[in-house]
Amino acid sequence: MKLHEYQARDLLAKNGVPVTAGRVAATPAEARKIAEELGGKVVVKAQIHAGGRGKGRLVEQAETAEMYQKLVSDPENYSGKVRGDRVGGVRLADTPEEAEQAAAAILGKYLVSIQTGPEGKLVKHVLVAEQTDIAKEYYLAAIIDGMQGCPLIMASAEGGQEIEVVAHRNPEAIVRMPVPPAAGYSPYIGRTLAARLGFTGDQADQFGRVVEGLYRTLMATDASLVEINPLALTTDGRVVAVDAKLNIDDNALFRQKELAAMRDLDEEDPLEVKAQQLGVANFIKLDGNIGCIVNGAGLAMATMDTIKLAGGEPANFLDIGTVNDPQRVVNAMKVILEDPAVKAILVNIFGGMARVDIIAQGVIEAHRQMKIDVPVVMRLVGTNLAEGEQLIQESGLPLIRANGLFEAAKKAVEAANAA
Ligand code: GDP
Ligand code: MN
Repeated sequence: MKLHEYQARDLLAKNGVPVTAGRVAATPAEARKIAEELGGKVVVKAQIHAGGRGKGRLVEQAETAEMYQKLVSDPENYSGKVRGDRVGGVRLADTPEEAEQAAAAILGKYLVSIQTGPEGKLVKHVLVAEQTDIAKEYYLAAIIDGMQGCPLIMASAEGGQEIEVVAHRNPEAIVRMPVPPAAGYSPYIGRTLAARLGFTGDQADQFGRVVEGLYRTLMATDASLVEINPLALTTDGRVVAVDAKLNIDDNALFRQKELAAMRDLDEEDPLEVKAQQLGVANFIKLDGNIGCIVNGAGLAMATMDTIKLAGGEPANFLDIGTVNDPQRVVNAMKVILEDPAVKAILVNIFGGMARVDIIAQGVIEAHRQMKIDVPVVMRLVGTNLAEGEQLIQESGLPLIRANGLFEAAKKAVEAANAA
């Protein structure tokens, strides 16, 4: 689960990281009022679940494919300027009037950035924060490193830009320090990183405290990623967070009730939200036209690969899990059929602990409950196959049967193309 910048900033501040003061606004008038309270010189920032806002572009409706290609190939010259006539999603304002104008320019528009895709994201809120006089921008992040099985701190003196770009052009510029899980955080970690980035004296101490606060935030929120880009060294020698990103591990939300309440469903794919509400947890929307119902994440990925091999495109990833309730299959069908792009459905089940007859019952029940006018291809093997076959036979439904995954994929592609 992703948080907005303004939420992430609050959590960082709570855990000891200095952040600039700021509040969120939904209207230009509110933005003006906050700017007045903050003393006039502010930065106005679109709050969407995507980065690259500064170099993004505000549009009234979805960006054309041609313009989007321009952004992807040359973000520097695409549009956004923090100061100047071309307005991106981050804008400096020197007076409350300018803050109001900046908010008016940003709110209600779609912000297209290198992370949003051409359709962009509708901006409903702006953060109005104290303006920082930045002398130098750094990158700082903490993640859970699944490969090494421990938290990892990453830092770079080449901040401000996308870290993927730094990693590509100049990988040595990113310094990595694992945090030993048993011992936890020790000040040498912050000191070592500070030295490697060229901080000395009081600023090294400040940087060390930021690293410690960042690590605390990671642990306290069960985050998979906490990122500050840029972490600014100000012209008067302070180290402060100017941007913040925080992703929480969904598997921890049961014990992070306060954070779970911060979820912004408007930022998420409507179909994925619907899937979660219907208990179809492992659903990811994709761009193709063949809906997939599969048990097991590995098999679901293999199914998507095989569809591609057969010349088709999957409309979704869906791992239905170990199913002992036909209604789960009905719900999965419901979610898939909500996507107008879907022209065929491929049900690929390897019955282990999940029973083929339960899946068959589910598919039959789905036809009873809804009008299903796309072809359904079924490839079934494993536990209670014979019982499942019999149910399908007796149902009289025009289900397309396939032996083997490749045959199933080919039949699904054929069916989708014929539609
Ligand atoms: P992002 O583009 O979505 O990552 O948004 P950021 O919050 O990182 O802002 C983009 C860039 O705008 C930063 O890298 C800074 O260069 C600049 N910026 C943001 N806030 C301020 C500020 O308070 N003062 C100054 N001078 N620049 C800022
Ligand atoms: Mn940033």
